[in-house]
Amino acid sequence: MPETERVDVHGHTVSGVDVGPETRCAHYDAERDVVALRLACCGDFYSCFRCHDAAADHDRERWSQDEYDVDAVLCGVCGATLTVAEYLDCDSTCPDCGAAFNPGCADHHDLYFEV
Ligand SMILES: [Zn+2]
Ligand SMILES: [Zn+2]
Ligand SMILES: [Zn+2]
Repeated sequence: MPETERVDVHGHTVSGVDVGPETRCAHYDAERDVVALRLACCGDFYSCFRCHDAAADHDRERWSQDEYDVDAVLCGVCGATLTVAEYLDCDSTCPDCGAAFNPGCADHHDLYFEV
């Protein structure tokens, strides 16, 4: 098991492996990897799904389309939380601070959300 840790990011606790101040982690460490996600199974923020699997002792669950109003996304740059619907609609840009999010994340939205 890799070492996992819990980091305070703008007042939110984000868990994962090598979590940085803007929620980058051991798995996603690029300039625009500044989003943390709350998982439906436990309601906790993780840097990414792999961080969840390393730190949590249970299977991952996704947000259903009925739950798109949950604030499941955290911008690591400014600390704003976005609902699932806001995140899916934000065009890879934080609506609060304008930070660019990694557009590649869209490739695995289905790991977090029922799309
Ligand atoms: Zn969980
Ligand atoms: Zn990670
Ligand atoms: Zn932001």
